[in-house]
Amino acid sequence: MLNLAGTLTDSIVDGPGLRFVVFAQGCSFDCPGCHNPQTHAFGAGVDRSPEDVFAEIRRSPLARGVTFSGGDPFFQAEAFAALAALLKEAGYEVAAYTGYTWETLLATGSAAQRDLIARLDILVDGRFEIAQRDLSLRFRGSANQRVIDVPASLAARKKTGSNEPVLCASRRWAG
Ligand code: SF4
Repeated sequence: MLNLAGTLTDSIVDGPGLRFVVFAQGCSFDCPGCHNPQTHAFGAGVDRSPEDVFAEIRRSPLARGVTFSGGDPFFQAEAFAALAALLKEAGYEVAAYTGYTWETLLATGSAAQRDLIARLDILVDGRFEIAQRDLSLRFRGSANQRVIDVPASLAARKKTGSNEPVLCASRRWAG
């Protein structure tokens, strides 16, 4: 089951286009200046199955992309991976935010966390660092956070063994 702080239809601030946003409940990063402190407590949200959330997304006809935000979806990686699998099969672009870095998730992440990564198109990684806050950045709050092209990064890793991420070149995300 997912434990969610909420959902939002037709967002324009969590990625390009009109997006459906799924907010995970629970995050232990405790970044100073976090915009969603009400989502930090674990288990304080609403339990929903991936299938139930998927059905709600299907009833939102304008959404072409879905973003997992929070909280941090990587603390509920197994359930979010199940939702991502349903969404990818239906043709959605799937993005996620996390306080973990790409390198940490690949080097020490759980099997479920790596499974979730493998089902994403875009990952915006890293904690919100208030000292690096930059209001001009698109879809991220601080300059340390990166918009990562997940399929390209995994393909490069397979080829070279490097955990270095490939940053998203799409003007939709990074322009
Ligand atoms: S990782 Fe995200 S949700 Fe968690 S404390 Fe940092 S900014 Fe807030």
